[in-house]
Order: sequence, then structure tokens, then C-alpha cells
Amino acid sequence: MKTIFAALTIALILPGVSKAAEPKLEVTTLAENIYMLSGKGGGNIGVMTGPDGTFVIDDQLEKTVPVLLKTIEDLGGTTPPRFVLNTHYHRDHTGGNKVLQNKDTTIISQINTRKRLAKDTHIKAFNVTNKALPDNALPNVTFTKKMQFDLNGNRLDAVYFPRAHSDGDSVVYFRDANIVHTGDLFFNGMYPFIDVDNGGSILGLIAAVQKLIATTDDNTKIIPGHGPLASRADLIAFQDMLTFTNASVIDLKKEGKTLEQAIKADPLVDYDKKWSGGIFSTDKWLELLYTAP
Ligand SMILES: [Zn+2]
Repeated sequence: MKTIFAALTIALILPGVSKAAEPKLEVTTLAENIYMLSGKGGGNIGVMTGPDGTFVIDDQLEKTVPVLLKTIEDLGGTTPPRFVLNTHYHRDHTGGNKVLQNKDTTIISQINTRKRLAKDTHIKAFNVTNKALPDNALPNVTFTKKMQFDLNGNRLDAVYFPRAHSDGDSVVYFRDANIVHTGDLFFNGMYPFIDVDNGGSILGLIAAVQKLIATTDDNTKIIPGHGPLASRADLIAFQDMLTFTNASVIDLKKEGKTLEQAIKADPLVDYDKKWSGGIFSTDKWLELLYTAP
């Protein structure tokens, strides 16, 4: 009790101490001017710096923006970023939109992501309602299937993957550097979330991950939506997990098992240790599979 009180007092008196609780971003260098930035509470960020301006993939949470800008400057990049691309509409990937757009950053997304951001959305799995974003936080530029950028000596392709984690997912390929940001099509080493209330689908996700495997190689550096930097082998392990766990649940449904009976049968017991350390326990993942389209 004494220790807690002392810590609180110090935090109140010395603003510098309380800064320890502020968002932090860990930087991983992937190429001369391309980085993965990760921190608690939001999705992984991709950053490319260079003379044509800074390109950012996903702007995480609103409170992360000052740290994001400082980190870009420390890496020798210019701020504000020239472009931010939202891989999908979830607020742990789009939280910085409003602040950055007010600083003249152009926000880009697939058209469905803009539509989702422009209206109230509800996610039953977390019992969360997200209010529509104001106009000055919505993407300024949208595309349907693909958008190409030629910046800082790199060719980037943003490619739409329909009906997977949501209905507006984009993957960004750095063609010259052989780096890819998958958005939330890939949670590395943990069960993923699939937003079935907003256009997501387990079969769509499996198809999307198959395509990601086919469009990468053993040297590709993969920035997942969540989790540590990945290789193609990690992506293949993720695909195997998705395919097997989904097939197991389909089998139990075919046998006529209710959700409760399916959970009791514990068909995913072998997957629990490796995959349940993220947002979902094995039982919750089974429930999502049982009810997902
Ligand atoms: Zn997401």
C-alpha cells in the first residue's frame, strides 16, 4: 500500500515519471528505409521514409500519434506523413486518422473501409459500438481493387482482399524490398479475430491467407496486423491452424453437436498452447468458428 501511494505521489509531482505510461513504439528495421513499428493496444504500423515523403500503413491509436511522429523523425523521415493507408476500418488501425488529416496527411483506403468508418458499426463478439468518424477523419482517397504507388525508389501495391477479416481489407506489398503488411489477415502466433458482423468470413480468411502464401517467398518479411514480425513459414503455420480448427468444428456441427457440446468435446486441445495467448482463448475461438459464415 505504501509503495503504491509513493508511486502515485511521484507521478503527480514529477510529470516526467508519469510519462512511463505513455504509448511506446518498438522499431524493427526491415530495409534501408522501411520499418515495422509495434506497441501495445494497437495494430502493427509500417513506415517507409524517403525524399518523396513518408508513407505509413495503419495509424494505430489517436494517443500514439505523437510517439509515431517522433519515431519517424528519429528515423530521419519527414512529418507529417504524406500518406497513411488504412488496411481496414478497426479503430486500433485507424485511430490516428483525424489528428494526421488535420496535419495535411492524405488518408487512403479500400472503398468499403471508408464506408464502414462513415457509419456506426457494432461488433457482437466484444459488445462494442464504434460511432461514425467525422468527415475530417475519413479516408480522402479510395480504391476498389488495387492501387499502385511509386515512391522513394519503391513500388508499392495496395491490394484488396474481399470478405476476410472484414469486407474492406487491404494488403500492402513493397515489391522491390520484398516486404508485405498484411493488415489483420494475419495474427502471428495467435487466434485471429474475424469481424463477421461487418463482412468478415472464415472461409474468406482462409482463401486470403492462401493467396498471401502464394504471393510471398521464403525471403519475404511479413508485418502481421498483430504479433511479431513473421516469415512465410509463420504464415503457413497460421493457415494450417485455420484450416484444421475450422474443419474440426464443421465436423462437430455435422454430427449435430450444439455449441456447448462442441466446446465440451475439446477438439482444439492440441492448438491451445501455441495459439491462445492473444485476444481469444481456445473456447472463444471455437465459438467464433461455430457461428462464423
Ligand atoms: Zn482488425
